[in-house]
This record gives sequence, C-alpha cells and structure tokens, in this order.
Amino acid sequence: MSDQKGFTTTILHSDRLLKPEFGALHQPVHTAVTWGYDDVQGLVNVFQNKAKGYAYSRQGNPTVTALEHKVTQMEQGMATVAFSTGMAAISATVFALVKAGDHIIASSFLFGNTRSIMQTFMDLGIDITFVDATAVENIKNALQENTRMVFIETIANPATQVADLGSIGDFCEEKGLVYVVDNTMTSPYIFRPVTVKASLVINSLTKYIGGHGDALGGSVTDTGLFNWVNYPNITAVLRQQIRPEMLGITQIRKRGLRDGGGTLSPEAAHTIAVGAETIALRLDRACANAAALAGFLDTHPLVSKVYYPGLESHPQHGLASSIFHRFGGLMSFALHDGVDCFEFLNHLKLVIKSSNLGDTRTLAIPVAHTIFFELGAERRAEMGIPDSMIRLSVGIEDTADLLEDFRQALEASKA
Ligand SMILES: *Cc1c(COP(=O)(O)O)cnc(C)c1O
Repeated sequence: MSDQKGFTTTILHSDRLLKPEFGALHQPVHTAVTWGYDDVQGLVNVFQNKAKGYAYSRQGNPTVTALEHKVTQMEQGMATVAFSTGMAAISATVFALVKAGDHIIASSFLFGNTRSIMQTFMDLGIDITFVDATAVENIKNALQENTRMVFIETIANPATQVADLGSIGDFCEEKGLVYVVDNTMTSPYIFRPVTVKASLVINSLTKYIGGHGDALGGSVTDTGLFNWVNYPNITAVLRQQIRPEMLGITQIRKRGLRDGGGTLSPEAAHTIAVGAETIALRLDRACANAAALAGFLDTHPLVSKVYYPGLESHPQHGLASSIFHRFGGLMSFALHDGVDCFEFLNHLKLVIKSSNLGDTRTLAIPVAHTIFFELGAERRAEMGIPDSMIRLSVGIEDTADLLEDFRQALEASKA
C-alpha cells in the first residue's frame, strides 16, 4: 500500500495493516519484557536469526516494531531500529559500524551533543575531520584511505546552513562510504535522504515525528542503498546468518541496541506513533508560520539578521529550494547592538523560553548563553554565532497571534 498511497494515508493505516489482535487500529502497548515459547526450538530460532520473533524486550518489542515500520515507510527505507533518544541512535550507529583507527568526515555544524559525542569517539581512537558541508569539495578534500563514514545534518541548528546533500551522496556512492544523514531538522515529510543516496537516516523522534514534546525517541533507517558485503567491520558470525542487505542494520540492532541498551520504551513508542500521524499537518502549519515570521523579522529595524533557508538572501536558498518542498520550522535571528536579547525574550507572552524543538508550541532560546555556552566565545565567533542570536522552533499557533507577540515584544525592547 505504501507505494501507491500518499504520505499521511500510509502512516495512518500502517498499524492496522500489520493486523493487531481484535482489529485494533493502533498497535497495543506491549509491556512484557520477555516472551515464552511452548517449543524451545522456537526460542532457539529467534536467537539464531532463523525466525522472526521476540525474546527479550531490550532488542525488540511489538509496539516498538510497529513504530519502526512506520518510520521505514515515512523514509521509504528498508528497515529501521528505534532507540530511547536521538543521541542513543547516533552513538549506537557509530559504535556499531566504526572502529578505532577508522576515519569519519563530519559536518562542522553539528547539533551540539552530536559534536560533543564525536569528541568522545575521537578520544576512543576514531579519527574525525570536521568540514563545512555546504560544499562537497570540502568532503572530497578530507578523504583518507581509512575513511568509512560521512556524517551530515540536513539543515544545521541554529544557523540553518544547508548541506550539499546530493553531491555528497554522489561522492559517497563513488567511494563506497557509509553516508549517514541526520534528518531531524527536516523530517521525512520535508525531505527523504534516500533521494540523495543516503545509506542510513537518523531521526530524533523527539522532535517533529513525535511532535508534541511529550516523548523521547530516536531511530536509524537503512535505505537499502549501501552494499554491506564488502564493508570491513561486519562481524563474521552475522555474515553467516544474515541476508547481505540486512547486515548493516542488524549489526546496529545487535551491537548498538542490544549491547548498548538505549532501548525505546513501548509507552514512548506508542506516544510517538500517534504523534507521527499528524506530522504533515503540523509541519505545513509550522513552516508557514516560520516563513511569515522570517519575513516579518527580516524587515524589522531592531533585527540585524535572520537565518532561514526560505529567505532569498539565505546562502543556500537555491539548494534548499531544489531539494526540500518546505523550509522547516527552525529559524534564528540576531538583534541589533543595544537591544537586550534577554529583555526581548522576557517580553514575549505567548512564545515559551525553552530548549526543545519540533514541539507544537513556539519555543525560543538565546543560543550563546545556553546550547552553545560550553563552546566559549572564541569558537562561537568562528562559527558565526552572535551573542544576541535567538533560535526559534516555530509551532502551530495561529499566525496572527505569533506575529503580534513578536511585534509587541520588539516594541517593548526599544532602547
Ligand atoms: C535533538 C537532536 C538530536 C538528539 O535527539 P534527542 O532525541 O534529543 O536525543 C540529534 N540530532 C539533531 C539534529 C537534533 O536536533
């Protein structure tokens, strides 16, 4: 059904078509930690990957499986493994597939905690080069003999740089590199990394897919495009048991999820699966609100700069227009010298001062004092993060109410 029907139709009906008991429309919340077998051979077959089934909930649970299936359909991928958080998905993917002595090329504009765990990987002996991923030349120049993986985000947070996704995909295909795309900021509704030849797609389900700021989760989807047969870090025992196309995602499930233990709870999986049903409706509204706000702020005399890929002045506006059908709900802006950014934020009445993103409510945070505080002033200056930068995760409020809140808060902040 997923091949013919539209995006929302497909995810709305995906649980039902897995035929849960009693004709339930949602996959029930299965809280069992373990499963019993009348014939021990059944249990043995599950352990030896000879039969599908469940043994212990750390590495597989029917409620979580239903969500994984939904994410696979959204990404038009081959298979998905869900995790307790987006960070668990990222760390498990790298730990499962990369060894000390291997090299990764990563974007220099990564999500803060991803940048931080990349440092931990470096401390463990993985070599990582950070490059400006808005131009494929920088990736090409960083290639080494031991390069295994390229790790990119679609739209960077907070300054909204857009990676040269298609050209990087072509390069990874040519060189046989695992191409990992963190699609959190765009979500599969706005962009499917499989269309630019991504091997693995990461989503923080906490953000747009769950969408209501009420459950943490993460996922990694194998698009089916990477040929794992010659990938050197696949364990010998898996090679004997598993179909070649499933080697990568199975190693992520075993080494990353089962051994790493960052398991998504069935309750959170259910919450995220229900939230996901409305992602297209929510994002259409959030993106329209973001575009309206970007236009308003861009011409406001107290605002020095707006960072939003939907603006024609954005450096990658052309690239973004060619690969995304919306420009996302995330934007940032900076205030002119002399306008106090804390004072402005405190004048906002509707918009909430909060660090999350992808919620239905509009959230604002001062970047230099919070999410990029640990980097220090010098690194922030290098990255082009002004002290007055404010990041917005634009929600689904009525547009006029949002615009009015920004108008009155700016008016009240005039020196
Ligand atoms: C939030 C986020 C993550 C981490 O997700 P959590 O679910 O909070 O662990 C990873 N990548 C990006 C781009 C994010 O925005």
